[in-house]
Amino acid sequence: DRINTASFSTDLRSNAGRVPAGLGKRRLRIVVTGGAGFVGSHLVDQLLSRGNDVIVIDNFFTGRKENVAHHFGNPRFELIRHDVVEPILLEVDQIYHLACPASPVHYKYNPGCIFEMVFEALDCDYKTNVMGTLNMLGLAKRIGARFLITSTSEVYGDPLEHPQKETYWGNVNPIGERSCYDEGKRTAETLAMDYHRGAGVEVRIARIFNTYGPRMCLDDGRVVSNFVAQAIRKQPLTVYGDGKQTRSFQYVSDLVNGLVALMEGEHVGPFNLGNPGEFTMLELAEVVKETIDSSATIEFRPNTADDPHKRKPDIGKAKELLNWEPKVSLREGLPLMVSDFQNRILNEDEGKGN
Ligand code: NAD
Ligand code: UDP
Ligand code: UDP
Repeated sequence: DRINTASFSTDLRSNAGRVPAGLGKRRLRIVVTGGAGFVGSHLVDQLLSRGNDVIVIDNFFTGRKENVAHHFGNPRFELIRHDVVEPILLEVDQIYHLACPASPVHYKYNPGCIFEMVFEALDCDYKTNVMGTLNMLGLAKRIGARFLITSTSEVYGDPLEHPQKETYWGNVNPIGERSCYDEGKRTAETLAMDYHRGAGVEVRIARIFNTYGPRMCLDDGRVVSNFVAQAIRKQPLTVYGDGKQTRSFQYVSDLVNGLVALMEGEHVGPFNLGNPGEFTMLELAEVVKETIDSSATIEFRPNTADDPHKRKPDIGKAKELLNWEPKVSLREGLPLMVSDFQNRILNEDEGKGN
């Protein structure tokens, strides 16, 4: 068993010649950082259902124990409360590195900048992206594990190329409000490629486009969760700016299939993982109204700084090399998250009444 015989040498060349992690049919030990979050918890469901052992590392900054509570008691599942900014020692075959305070509300309240990150060690997106990714890459290097990083379409910034291909280098403001996220992920990609080229770590890079589904944070400020929660609560749907900006929305099960295909495939990437169906925010509001409450109203609010005008993935590379493409359209996917949101909003309301 490779896990028990894994070399503890810090000499990465000791990993040369190993069978690439993820290949073959045997049961794997897999770490999912950020596994108590929205995407992570769905990934954990899939990895466990495929018969693997899964260790979740999460500090519950935006994630919730409830998202993985249905696995408590399963001997193949382990949950570790840990901040990836701190080093950790584990022996595993694969690392899915998702940990990141990803939602817009959190990154606006908790931004931090590069200098704060390095010298004052503030808790911030940039710090998690840089130091957390560095630690997970150090771990991958030491134990010879395959490492997948969930980067983002935000690396393209406010794109001047449309749709975006992986070859596009992006148009990102390095000092703006959302820079800690965009630049943090760009740095994380850089680190991953450095460890790949310099230390032989088997890395995989996913650039994820806007994803939605059950277990999204209720109030994290993302447009889909905002609109769905607002429609259920009988509040107006808040459209920022003129609502003509576009996004491409992917259902979470499609993303999870793409992440697993990427991890198990032979290509480093980066790969765009997203649904090419493109919607304006006003069109999205219409789909939410059709799905939940046709009498819902719309309220316009000022838009945030540096908001990308449009976004749509070119997924040709993932189709060709990973044999992956999304299957669930927005109109099919939205109804699949409604009952989860309804239940959680109901529980919240009951909690307030107590
Ligand atoms: P999420 O906030 O639900 O999940 C992130 C998880 O990471 C949470 O459980 C959080 O508690 C945990 N976490 C944060 N900082 C941590 C730290 N320092 N140590 C340990 N755990 C920490 O967000 P999500 O939507 O599930 O995103 C998962 C990943 O996918 C992120 O890396 C995000 O950047 C990426 N991504 C998501 C989307 C999307 O639309 N959902 C789009 C692009 C990229
Ligand atoms: N690291 C970790 N777990 C490990 C191996 C490394 O958390 O099993 C951390 C380590 O503490 C360091 C980072 O990963 O902060 C980078 O490790 P690497 O060995 O590449 O760099 P070095 O320690 O030589 O600076
Ligand atoms: N948005 C909106 N109403 C909301 C929240 C967001 O119109 O209640 C807009 C936001 O300005 C942006 C788009 O929806 O143009 C997508 O925002 P989100 O934060 O979900 O994702 P990102 O900007 O990271 O793609």
